[in-house]
Amino acid sequence: MMILLLPVISFVGTIAVIVFLNNIFGIELQSFSILFIIPIGALIVGYLGSVGISVGHLISNKYAGRKMILVGAIIGVLTYMGIYYASYLTTYIAPNGEINYWFNGNPISHKITFFRYLQIELSSAKHTFLLHGIPVGSYKTGKSVNTIGLVIQLLAAACGGIGGGVVAKEYCQKCQKYKKEKKLFMIGVNEYKMVIKSLPTLLNDVPKLKALMAQEQKSTQKYENGYFSLELQYCPDCFENTLYIKAMKRKPKSSSFEEVIKMRQTLNLSPELAKSILISTADSKIGTTEDTSITNASTQINTLQRDKQIGTTVR
Ligand SMILES: [Zn+2]
Repeated sequence: MMILLLPVISFVGTIAVIVFLNNIFGIELQSFSILFIIPIGALIVGYLGSVGISVGHLISNKYAGRKMILVGAIIGVLTYMGIYYASYLTTYIAPNGEINYWFNGNPISHKITFFRYLQIELSSAKHTFLLHGIPVGSYKTGKSVNTIGLVIQLLAAACGGIGGGVVAKEYCQKCQKYKKEKKLFMIGVNEYKMVIKSLPTLLNDVPKLKALMAQEQKSTQKYENGYFSLELQYCPDCFENTLYIKAMKRKPKSSSFEEVIKMRQTLNLSPELAKSILISTADSKIGTTEDTSITNASTQINTLQRDKQIGTTVR
């Protein structure tokens, strides 16, 4: 049910809301750009128009697959054009020749075709409607959109549509469910070798694992140039899983990190191990001070880090 309902709501709802706001404020939200070139309006409109597809698939656990790239792009473009079409249908000419959106007078759709309307819309910032050579009304919008502009806008709407329509999650074909993701912990570049070597033991050592999770989840800012992130993607039913070890690198002149995809490593844990890790670390908040096992584990890690530092200093 949701799989049909949500796409319709997001498509129709996006068009209705944008046209409503445009008509009230006399703007064209869908053609807003940042710095004149980044078509943020079209991207957002495309995304909102198709986001119901991915949400519907997620909620009903239906496999979407790659065909949603095409479907999303088409819905994105249709949403963008749909806004113009809905504007066309809600544009009226009052008896005194004034353009209005309040159903006063004759609908413009009785006078000109949609194609002609679009041409006028896209050709100038000041829109003047001429009927048999006589100007019947005019209004101004913030920005002109020419044909090249329109192509860029449509591409942006398609990209937004893909972003909204595609479910970026792995799917368990066996159980017909989307997999879930759990961030286990992060490790600094210096600890990487040591942690990876002891990974099999570590994954079975719940207190130590919990301590690592509590300690490492706080902030990435202490990692100067990069870090490694361990993330478990698992099926909530059968616990079939993939453990991703992602190498994250700081973006140049930025406080955020991006993954170095070619350095990504994957491991498959046994479903039993994955299940036990997930259950035992379900509450990954930092342990209370009375919990000596966690404190001990943290101490051990701190000691190891200190040793490492000493090692670096000596060298
Ligand atoms: Zn499964």
